[in-house]
Order: sequence, then C-alpha cells, then structure tokens
Amino acid sequence: MGRVQGKVAIVTGAAKGIGAASAKALAREGAKVICSDMDEEGGEAMAAEIQRTGGEAIFVAHDVTDEAQWANVVKVAEDRFGGLNIVVNNAGIAPTGGPIEDLELNDWRKLIAVDLDSVFLGCKYGIKTIKKSTEKGQKGSIINISSINGQKGQMGQTNYSAAKAGVIGFTKALAQEVAKKGVTVNVIAPGYIDTEMVAAVPPKVLESIIATIPVGRLGKAEEIAHCVTFLADEKSAFITGATFTANGAQYIAG
Ligand code: NAD
Repeated sequence: MGRVQGKVAIVTGAAKGIGAASAKALAREGAKVICSDMDEEGGEAMAAEIQRTGGEAIFVAHDVTDEAQWANVVKVAEDRFGGLNIVVNNAGIAPTGGPIEDLELNDWRKLIAVDLDSVFLGCKYGIKTIKKSTEKGQKGSIINISSINGQKGQMGQTNYSAAKAGVIGFTKALAQEVAKKGVTVNVIAPGYIDTEMVAAVPPKVLESIIATIPVGRLGKAEEIAHCVTFLADEKSAFITGATFTANGAQYIAG
C-alpha cells in the first residue's frame, strides 16, 4: 500500500522541476495524478512517463491564473477519477523586474497572479471538490509551495518575496478555516533546488548562494517531493497550518 493509495491528486506545474518530481512521487505512492501545466508538451510527456512506469496519470492544459481553467481541472478530476483528495499548488515563476525602482507594475502584477492568485484559486476550487470526499470520511490535503525567500525576504525580489510570504499567511488562515472539514493545508518552503528555475541563475551568483547553504549543495526536486507525499499521507492528519522548511539549514525559521 502506498502512502496515498487510491487518492486523486492535482499537481500544478507538473511538466518539470518540483512539480514533476511531486507528480511522480504521488503516483509511485498509489495516487491517480492530474499533471497540470501550461506547458502542454512537457506536461503530456510527464503524464506519459508516469503511465509508462506503471502509475496512473493524465495531463490537463491549465493556466493557474485562470479561474475557468481551475473549474475545468477539478471537473476533470471528478469525471475521470471520481473525486479529488490532494492539490499541490506548485506552479510558479521566478522573480522578474529587479530592484524596487525598476520594478514595473506589470512585473509585480504578473508575479502575484502566478505565484499567489493561483494558490487562492487552487484552494478555493480544490476545497469545494475535496469536501465531497472528506464528507465520505476520506482525508483531504492541500500543499502550497512557498520559498525560503518568502520566509526571510530577498533583496531585489520584493514581488517574489511578497507572493511567497502571502502563501504562508494564506495557508495559516485557511488551515484553521477548513480544519473541521477534514482538509489539511500546509506549506513547503524550499531553499535553492536544482531545477531549471535555479539553472537560470548566473553561475557566479549560484556559487555564492551555495556557499551560504550549510549542507553545501542545492536541494533535489525529489527531496521536496518527499515532503509532499509525507504531508499528503492520511497519517499526517494532525499536521495543518504548518510551514515545512527544506533548505539545507540556509535559513532556520523560528
Ligand atoms: P520550474 O520553472 O522548473 O517549473 C515551473 C513549472 O510551472 C513549469 O513547468 C511551468 O510551465 C509551470 N508554470 C509556470 N507558470 C504557470 C502558469 N501560469 N500556469 C501553469 N503552469 C505554469 O520551477 P521549480 O523550480 O520546479 O519551482 C516550482 C515551485 O517551487 C515554484 O512555485 C517556485 O517558486 C518554488 N520554489 C522553487 C525553488 C527552486 O530553487 N527551484 C525554491 C523555492 C521555491
């Protein structure tokens, strides 16, 4: 029996990086996974890879900033898999725009839309659907992906830090709001993880970042996926409203 045997999960941003690793890990642990992403080619390939290795997965094209597309994704979960138990709000974009005086309102709005509005929509539509399963006695789980930079703030990244800190505050409030409905809502705050998002950082800057990580290396997407399956497990039902820090001791939040 896998940790999430027979459960239905939506993972956003599942075409690559942390989302792909999480989709694969949930499928390995027995979940039926909806791989959602706006990257259709990458998302299709990921769902196909999961199927090839014996898991159950389908791809749904999905822009996480679009409310109607959220309504569609949860409907697909119900139509194809008979319900929904887990949502991993992972899709996000890296900081753009730079220091405050250069940061354009458009850069601010775009980042807040992709990295924070998406979490609101994913939780709103997710909970409406998950509730139907929890009413039948199953546990529901929402896992929102924040960042070390939402915990400590990062200069030059005010938009990203604001969105990711927003994810943490939002999660704490929602966890209390839906606790009685049998749905847990938690945050994972990764440090620097070896994905394409971090590969875009100039090598010299990356070197200086790694020098500040006591563990001495970048994290792996699979290490964040491990936190995802742990939190999605029914046995984690008493963990809610929590922020799971996974950053190699780069920043230890109190
Ligand atoms: P990534 O760039 O490798 O993958 C992100 C995925 O999200 C891509 O497949 C992309 O197509 C998808 N995406 C982007 N915008 C979307 C939209 N509007 N609708 C649907 N899909 C969209 O990124 P990653 O490194 O795997 O990061 C995943 C999450 O983890 C993000 O929220 C990121 O902020 C967070 N995070 C990453 C790191 C890191 O070091 N990599 C650290 C902390 C937090």
